[in-house]
Amino acid sequence: MNERIRYINAAEFEEEIKKGEPIALDFYSTECPPCEALAAKFESLSEIYGDDVKFLKIFRQENRPLAEKLGVTSSPTLIFFNNGKEVAERLSGGIKRTEVVAGIESMMTAERASELRKKIVPVTEECDVLIIGGGPAGITAGIYSAQAKLKTILVDIALPGGQVTTTHMVSNYPGFIKPVEGFMLTHFMNEQAKEAGVIFRSAVDVSDVDLVNKKLIVDGFETITAKKIIIATGSSYRELGIPGEREYKGRGISYCATCDAKYYGDKHVVVIGGGNSAVEESLFITKFAGRLTIVHQFDKLQANKEAQEKAFSNKKIDFIFEHEPRSFKKQPDGSMIIEIENLKNSSLREIKADGVFIFAGMKPNTGLFNESLKIDDQGYIITDAYMRTNIPGVYAAGDVIQKPYRQITTSVSDGTIAAITAERELDN
Ligand SMILES: Cc1cc2nc3c(=O)[nH]c(=O)nc-3n(C[C@H](O)[C@H](O)[C@H](O)COP(=O)(O)OP(=O)(O)OC[C@H]3O[C@@H](n4cnc5c(N)ncnc54)[C@H](O)[C@@H]3O)c2cc1C
Repeated sequence: MNERIRYINAAEFEEEIKKGEPIALDFYSTECPPCEALAAKFESLSEIYGDDVKFLKIFRQENRPLAEKLGVTSSPTLIFFNNGKEVAERLSGGIKRTEVVAGIESMMTAERASELRKKIVPVTEECDVLIIGGGPAGITAGIYSAQAKLKTILVDIALPGGQVTTTHMVSNYPGFIKPVEGFMLTHFMNEQAKEAGVIFRSAVDVSDVDLVNKKLIVDGFETITAKKIIIATGSSYRELGIPGEREYKGRGISYCATCDAKYYGDKHVVVIGGGNSAVEESLFITKFAGRLTIVHQFDKLQANKEAQEKAFSNKKIDFIFEHEPRSFKKQPDGSMIIEIENLKNSSLREIKADGVFIFAGMKPNTGLFNESLKIDDQGYIITDAYMRTNIPGVYAAGDVIQKPYRQITTSVSDGTIAAITAERELDN
């Protein structure tokens, strides 16, 4: 830790606030991966902005009354103060360097900010294997690669864990007799990777990926070069692309039941979709919601039989088949109006709900990669059985590749194969 960062307690915070100087205050906890991800950024930014802004850290567990007074409920939470008052956007979770910079620079003039930015020195880090994406595929590749004593760096634009982090319960991953919380499963995976020696760059911005020359840029200033690259960027929720969807995303429209179902206690929720995710997540949502309507484009559900049976026998769930949503609107009272079209006769009608969950399938995260990477017409990367792509020394694994089944186990398997192949071909 450098000298520009100071650890304080609640009493010292009150003294600091009285001085009215610009402050970046990090409420942190121990055994907290997002806190560790922020710590590295906090440290490097303190070198640049530390003369103008005080970089303070406070241990949340030992300063609970202050945390409660300030409304801090999770770690890390980064708060900016100027002239004794909170300013800028409060940050928490997987905090990006650019977000911290925005908070810090809001407390100084544009001229001063631009002057200080000149102090940023580009750095280069070399490694044997660079893994892009830290879901089950990337983490497994990391474990194998690091255990083979290869210098392994894993970059992720979010906190590692991938889709599993937001999966409520996983019941089909071997090694756990009872269903395990997705969040805990990824926690175990991450800790194992860390233990193996994987170097993480979490919640970073990734740009300028050059697969042929094996390098990419992290947070605009760190170039990582590698002998081999494994792409494990997974997939993301597919949007419907209809009016109101983007506008109300996070404000009535959600793609993640684990994250948002709790806000709908005893309320009416509409779920769009009828596949495995839609039906399984609907069952979870009914633990909170009072009523749930599944709107599905086909005349029957596509989910597995067990999930279908549970849904049909759940008294809170009703179904509207052969309908598709056409727009979302929000009422002044906060409720959502979902316009749906009957696909048989094209008639339109509106249904009212308190919230909407969309489970319309997934799309591969391949937008970052250049055209020389061979992908199929859906955007999935084409690999051979050894997870090699068409670019020598570049492998791909997990949901991002073209394959029939996308599960945690299949991603873990792909990650294993990619890492072993990369290691065997290291000197090629
Ligand atoms: C709601 C839901 C429930 C599910 N339930 C189950 C289940 O019960 N059992 C099961 O086996 N499977 C389940 N799955 C599927 C399973 O989660 C996926 O198959 C698995 O997570 C895929 O792993 P992955 O590593 O390939 O990709 P992901 O899990 O998608 O991880 C990809 C990672 O790459 C990162 N990333 C993306 N773009 C970039 C970039 N440009 N640069 C750097 N990093 C990037 C992401 O932040 C993410 O961390 C479920 C999926 C969903 C959505």
